[in-house]
Amino acid sequence: MPAEKFRFCPRCAAKLKPRLIGGNELMACDSCGYVQYLNPVGAAAGLVLRGEEVLLVQRGIEPFKGAWAIPAGYQDPGESPAEAAEREILEETGLEVRAGALLDLLWVPDDPRKPANVALFACTLTGGNLQAADDAMSAQWFSLAELPADIAFDNKAQVFDRLVAGGDLRRRLDALSGNSPSGFVD
Ligand SMILES: [Zn+2]
Repeated sequence: MPAEKFRFCPRCAAKLKPRLIGGNELMACDSCGYVQYLNPVGAAAGLVLRGEEVLLVQRGIEPFKGAWAIPAGYQDPGESPAEAAEREILEETGLEVRAGALLDLLWVPDDPRKPANVALFACTLTGGNLQAADDAMSAQWFSLAELPADIAFDNKAQVFDRLVAGGDLRRRLDALSGNSPSGFVD
């Protein structure tokens, strides 16, 4: 679903008109020159594992309200992706983490607010107490073998299915932690 297009200019309040720019029909202002670009935005997500359990939050807002997802959110202005992941996890779960290795950059085009590039970090728990807050209705640990049925976004295909034995995210995590089952990483 595409992002919602403005009808009036947020800068000068004139009526916006569709304009073809670079092959995309964007809303543009003839009065002041403003264009509502619909570029993907930067976001970050944190994969926090405790043995074979993963930290998930139950979304309290749309889209996917009520479904479960790994903690994630948009970057604030001036914030690095790693800082965004750490902040979102603290805000949504009460847990303090350190964002370590970048596991992947997930392309999430199906968010009705705006498409996003989501930096997925392997996060290490450093403190805090589990307490859902902010955009999360609930936060809890789930066994990777018994995840809830209602998973938000494309987390299942983009994250969880790749954490099974032999999956690429699992192999990367094993290599990072030095537990490579194949023994090719010290
Ligand atoms: Zn304008």
